[in-house]
This record gives sequence, structure tokens and C-alpha cells, in this order.
Amino acid sequence: MSIQDNVAAIKARMRQAALEAGRDPESILLCAATKMNDADAVRQAIAAGVDCCGENRVQELVQKQAQNAYEGAPVHFIGHLQTNKVKQVVGKVDLIQSVDSLRLLEAVNKEAARQSIIQDILLEINIGNEESKTGFLLEDMDTLLPKMAEYGNIHVRGLMAIPPISHNSGDNRKFFEKIYTLSVDITAKKYDNVSVDVISMGMSDDYADAIACGSTMIRVGTAIFGARNYTKTHP
Ligand SMILES: *Cc1c(COP(=O)(O)O)cnc(C)c1O
Repeated sequence: MSIQDNVAAIKARMRQAALEAGRDPESILLCAATKMNDADAVRQAIAAGVDCCGENRVQELVQKQAQNAYEGAPVHFIGHLQTNKVKQVVGKVDLIQSVDSLRLLEAVNKEAARQSIIQDILLEINIGNEESKTGFLLEDMDTLLPKMAEYGNIHVRGLMAIPPISHNSGDNRKFFEKIYTLSVDITAKKYDNVSVDVISMGMSDDYADAIACGSTMIRVGTAIFGARNYTKTHP
């Protein structure tokens, strides 16, 4: 199957999952997780109609931007971002989905202030409370969200989550439901400088479940590009 066929198949399944959940299919966006895929593959995905691209590594982002790989689609950062690399990402991407600590949030705000811009971000939630993962914990939210008003050079546009690795289909629904519940709660409480326009959850193996639970953006790599070749260092 070509990238074009894969994107068409995913869009059909997204549409079906949305309709089954009584949701508007247009309200759910497809973000191509482009890590380890080269500029040509990225261009094919954009031509096939993905809504945006998500890059994991700063080095790949910089390289593919230099090749104009993302022309025609917004680009997001979706990987763990080290604070010493924020300069290469802030102002260069439409959305940083993976703000996973207060320290990083402060570094992004500071760099955005230096550039005199407002950077859109998502808060990444460590929804499985996994020690191996970064991200905010659900129980941090009540103290964190009121503080967002203090950061004038970021705007929180929503939530992103990666549930624990699961082996049974449907296992992740309970995590997706928790994120959705949090999003409803945030919207109801109306925090300054926080909106929930984006709920980024669902990947190749579980995006239909994520859509059933309220996702507005799925991030899909393997199902678009095929299995990643980890023996290559980078494209
Ligand atoms: C790689 C990646 C994805 C996509 O994973 P697939 O299982 O290949 O669809 C989604 N989100 C993030 C943050 C990723 O790093």
C-alpha cells in the first residue's frame, strides 16, 4: 500500500469511528507522526491530505524544515524536548504538543518572550502515572492550570497523552476517558490562558478507540508510513 492509500484508509476509518460515536468527522484531525521518515515521504503524506505533521526530534525537524518538507501543512513538535533545545523549536512550529514539565514550560515561555511571540502548546499528561515517562500528572492539574495566566508568551491549547503500551485492543479506553473527563473539567472551570481546542490522543493501534473517547487529533506514524527502520541513524 502506498502512503496515499494508507492515508485514505485511515481517513475512512476515522470517519466511521466518528460517526459511530455520534461525532462530526470534520472535528478530528490527522497528524502524521513523521519520525524517521524522509522529506519525500512527508511530502507524500501532505499531498495525501494529512492535516499536520508531528516531529519527534529537533535534529529531524531542523533538517526537514531546511528541505521544505512540511510545505502545505502545519508542523507540530510531539517528542520530548530538552530545555537546551527550545530555541530550535519555539517559533518554528505551530504547536508544541509535548510540554511535559513546568521547567520546560517556563523555558518555552521565556524563549517565546525573547522572540516577542505567543507559542501555542499542549500539556502532555502522563496518564498512566508511568515512572519511565515524562508529563504532568492528573493530580497536578488543579495547581498547575491556575498558574498558566502567569505565562504571557504561551497559550495552552489543550492536552496530549500517550497511554501505557497495551496488548489488548480496548485497553487504552480507560486512559482516553480520563483525558476527556479532564478536558471537560478544564473547559467548565475557565482558566485564563487555557483552552481545550485540541485533545491529542490515539496512534496507529488505537486511534478508533481514542476517537470514540473524544480525541480531536490522532497522531499516526506506522499506519501511514509502514514500520520504521531503526537501523538507519536518521533520514
Ligand atoms: C511515533 C509517535 C506516534 C505514532 O506512533 P505509531 O504507533 O507509529 O502510529 C504518535 N505520537 C508520538 C508522540 C510518537 O512519538
